[in-house]
Amino acid sequence: MSGTALTLALSKGRIFDETLPLLKAAGIEVLEDPEKSRKLILATNRPEVRVVLVRASDVPTYVQYGGADLGITGKDILLEHGSQGLYLPLDLRIAKCRVSVAVRADFDYASAVRQGSRLRVATKYVAIAREFFAAKGVHVDLIKLYGSMELAPLTGLADAIVDLVSTGNTLKANHLVEVERIMDISSHLVVNQAALKLKQAALRPIIDAFAAAVKQD
Ligand code: AMP
Repeated sequence: MSGTALTLALSKGRIFDETLPLLKAAGIEVLEDPEKSRKLILATNRPEVRVVLVRASDVPTYVQYGGADLGITGKDILLEHGSQGLYLPLDLRIAKCRVSVAVRADFDYASAVRQGSRLRVATKYVAIAREFFAAKGVHVDLIKLYGSMELAPLTGLADAIVDLVSTGNTLKANHLVEVERIMDISSHLVVNQAALKLKQAALRPIIDAFAAAVKQD
């Protein structure tokens, strides 16, 4: 049986690497190494299953519009993008990190918040930051950045940043300190809602194999 064609959207790096064992549990092996090839479409040992490599922030868009039937992306990305048109069956508990507020070591964040000053916050995660500070009743001016958030407090662009933190090494290297932990992040499986109905027979065994392989801790 050749089966229904399935396209899986992944981003290179940590998500790709940590997805490989889950794919293996579903009997799927990617035949090329994305770090060694410039190809954007990777074949697997299953002729009907292919992997497309997209930016992490584009995974929900590919899956939402059917450019991919399923994908794997961080909760941070999903919260920023919204999950319209997406079915989210599973927290895969991979690529774990957290979203935190960080400031320069010499910035008195607690006093600024207590005194009700208006904070300038630079971030790629505008939706997450807006909701977090609104819930705390802290007035913020949000400055949207696309990368290297750590530079913002060092150059005077912002008082604080909202960014992903894993080991904390990047903050430390830039003399920044984590002052609040907003939420824990991990990557989730996302499935196109139409594909879920039309390709149910092909998708269900993959979702079930992923569910069984998810690490419990
Ligand atoms: P670390 O130095 O280990 O705290 O990692 C922080 C840097 O890695 C920041 O620039 C983050 O944007 C990035 N980062 C950490 N974890 C993730 C993740 N799960 N997905 C994407 N980027 C991440």
